[in-house]
Amino acid sequence: MSTAQLDHYQMVINGARVDARSGARFDTLDPYAQRPWASVPDADAADVDAAVAAAKAALRGPWGELTGFQRAALLRRLGDLIARDAQRLARLETRDSGKLLREMSGQLSYIPQWFYYYSGLADKLEGAAIPSDKPNFFAYTRREPVGVVAAIVPWNSPLLLLTWKLAPALAAGCTVVVKPSDHTPVTAIELAALVEEAGFPPGVLNVVTGFGPATGKALTAHPDVAKIAFTGSTATGISVAHAAADRLAGVLLELGGKSAQLVFADADLDAAANGVIAGVFAASGQTCMAGARLLVHRSIHDELVAKVVARAESITLGDPAEPATEMGPLANAPQFEKVSAMLATALADGATVATGGGPDPELGGFFVRPTVLTGVTPSTEIVCEEVFGPVLAVLPFDTEEEAIELANSTRYGLAGAVWTKDIHRGHRVAHQLRAGTVWINAYRTVGPNVPFGGYNHSGLGRENGIEAVYEYTETKSIWVELTGATRDPFTIG
Ligand code: NDP
Repeated sequence: MSTAQLDHYQMVINGARVDARSGARFDTLDPYAQRPWASVPDADAADVDAAVAAAKAALRGPWGELTGFQRAALLRRLGDLIARDAQRLARLETRDSGKLLREMSGQLSYIPQWFYYYSGLADKLEGAAIPSDKPNFFAYTRREPVGVVAAIVPWNSPLLLLTWKLAPALAAGCTVVVKPSDHTPVTAIELAALVEEAGFPPGVLNVVTGFGPATGKALTAHPDVAKIAFTGSTATGISVAHAAADRLAGVLLELGGKSAQLVFADADLDAAANGVIAGVFAASGQTCMAGARLLVHRSIHDELVAKVVARAESITLGDPAEPATEMGPLANAPQFEKVSAMLATALADGATVATGGGPDPELGGFFVRPTVLTGVTPSTEIVCEEVFGPVLAVLPFDTEEEAIELANSTRYGLAGAVWTKDIHRGHRVAHQLRAGTVWINAYRTVGPNVPFGGYNHSGLGRENGIEAVYEYTETKSIWVELTGATRDPFTIG
């Protein structure tokens, strides 16, 4: 396809549509059609500087003067506009990422709820009146925006994961510079148009497009960025945290996982098999919360594996835009290569392929067949490391203690599930899992009001829920002297 036929996008800086100052551009690929379909600017450090300067200036402009009530009204309007355009945005996300249209339609229809939820908090960011231990003083606190937020988002759910940052940051009164993944740069630009239409002042949301090691790095190193909200791999998250530490900027990190589904002998096996499928094959396994390890009581191992394999083999692979399709391709070439390499290593490490095991020979492209591996060894890569693809590793256990120990044995701690009909065991085991989210007899449910984030190498801080908005505020304490009396200048008290 010639460059002239590609959809042509510009970045959004201070409300203006701009190209990179260097004029550089790159193409984004439709992973199903295996063709470039849009062209976006390739921003360098000078473009990032302009975006951060716009965001910094906007803090001091009309946006900084708005009350929480006024920010709430803007957030509600933005939610309405996203609801209006949900299907159009979903189609763009599918084209850019290869994810199922039915999943992206669901996500886009749900995203407005985040803006409504945080609009409900924007006017409730209360400080506290603190009873003083000194009769001549009154103390109170204010919650103030942290300042300019850098939102760095990956390709697997571009708008949803941006929303998890944007909605609370705007509710808190921050301004934002977004860097979407170079694999999925389009919808952040589209969202910026809706932010403008909703009436947010210029500079409140800026979008710079480019590559992580250049554009992303320039953003994380920028001295005027007060907080970096990042979703992506643990390795990149750690390098982002290093960049932030150099100037003591805040970080909110939502990173990788190797979440376990623990299925006990008394579980409803049909429900558990369905939950296992949802956990690891939905989104072709390209989700941070993928339930990529199945820990199953030895007495039901073969029966449950047979159910999961049967369902995996009936999954419809194909065009992500078709309503009947259940699994689309992987989102990009590096991801396809990574998944293929990890499968090869798993086989070399002695895993047995119960089904799948590699690329789909008929569909070709970036399609990988839903894969179930048994006979895996706990210390191997396939059990310990994130695949981010449709690959399930199955391990048997004999006791509850062993199941918990296995579940907690990776460096991650994002999510997990317990499948049992025993209410005591359900809660007891959930409490002992070192993970930020645990579902009991369910998998892959999230909501705007329930905190989400990881233990250990799965992240730092929480998105969603009330505490997410506090991630974007500083608490200021104010002391008021009530009597006008002078005091000993050489003592604290
Ligand atoms: P990355 O973690 O590298 O990318 C996530 C985001 O960070 C993207 O916007 C990326 O930009 C940006 N980025 C990359 N390098 C830097 C940097 N040095 N400074 C600032 N920003 C940077 O993930 P990948 O896309 O490379 O995927 C690799 C693996 O990460 C996957 O196989 C998967 O295991 C995991 N992953 C986990 C996700 C999760 O939700 N937990 C999401 C995505 C991936 P760009 O894409 O333009 O390089």
